[in-house]
Amino acid sequence: VDAFAEGLLRRAGIWDIGRKVLEGRRISEEEALRLFRCPDIHAVGWLGEQACRRKRGLIATYVINRYLNYSNVCILSCRFCAFYRREGEAGAFTFSIQELVRQARESYERGAGEIHCVGGLHPKLPFEYYLELVSEIKRACPGIHVKAFTAVEIRHLARRIARLPLRETLLRLKEAGLDALTGGGAEIFDPEIRDSICRGKESAEEWLEVHRIWHELGQPSTATMLYGHIEGFHHRVDHLKRVRELQDQTGGFTAFVPLPYQPDGTDRLPVRRRTSGLDQLRTIAVCRVYLDNFEHITAYWLSMGLGLAQVALGFGADDLHGTLEEERIYHMAGANTPQGVTVAQLERAIREAGRIPARRDTFYRIQAHSEAFGSSVRTG
Ligand code: SF4
Repeated sequence: VDAFAEGLLRRAGIWDIGRKVLEGRRISEEEALRLFRCPDIHAVGWLGEQACRRKRGLIATYVINRYLNYSNVCILSCRFCAFYRREGEAGAFTFSIQELVRQARESYERGAGEIHCVGGLHPKLPFEYYLELVSEIKRACPGIHVKAFTAVEIRHLARRIARLPLRETLLRLKEAGLDALTGGGAEIFDPEIRDSICRGKESAEEWLEVHRIWHELGQPSTATMLYGHIEGFHHRVDHLKRVRELQDQTGGFTAFVPLPYQPDGTDRLPVRRRTSGLDQLRTIAVCRVYLDNFEHITAYWLSMGLGLAQVALGFGADDLHGTLEEERIYHMAGANTPQGVTVAQLERAIREAGRIPARRDTFYRIQAHSEAFGSSVRTG
């Protein structure tokens, strides 16, 4: 470590944590909490970047993907959610499989390698709908990866729709072609906060159980954390601890995606403003440092904005998620970011941040990258 970096960390009071990180040692929950509380964003960010570079070097990834929301009809009413509607209510939608496959095919022909598909907890759609949705997309788009359903949807399907054990439900979806589970629905694991923002939703243990079983079936998933609402830093650390513990046991998570709360489309939580840019950067950095068993940290440009996500590449993130094309959930909550970006925009953002852009697949395997800044993309 050069004298400047050591001085930076010493002045910030986190030199002891810095040494651990630089030596590749794991930090504790108490140390993660100190990083969240450390007022020197540059010191925390520098540590995040060091931890990131050790894993990924200068490469930063994105995926060409498309979001499909099959339905926003939901039996729950999470207080932070602006997406859901009751059946028959104005604004409720449920797409036919044919229409969803048409949309997937359209994106596939434009180069999409991943379909990202989630929806509400629909009370009536039969299990066959979900199986067919996956298998038909795979049939119409050979080689595409389908990343779909949150752990909440999976439990809903198993318990109320298919009436099958979780493992059997997941196995049937895997056989239909499901490649990966999405990380949504984790919100914040603390039971009190969870009860306040999304009463009736599965517990932390139930969320983790779905991912554990899915990993045991040999399949990957991502993990998320919805933050910047009514939780405290210690709730974030508790959330990260539980995710890190499961990752120690299964190794099945590909990436961690911190999601800043979007307050504009719902007034049922006492939170009026979006969490600050500094809090978002700090959260990326702490996640990168604490989650030493996760290979990737995603700066979700859609919620952060592409500009801030680009800055996050210097604070510990090594992935910008994807092109998305037609996101609905965050936009119904009032996000003022675009509903999709082009490959050129993502690559420019990565290059400007001093990183080498690389296209990845659902499994975070690199598909194509430019060998030097500004060179043309090489496939392989
Ligand atoms: S967050 Fe998901 S489960 Fe909760 S109301 Fe919205 S769609 Fe339903």
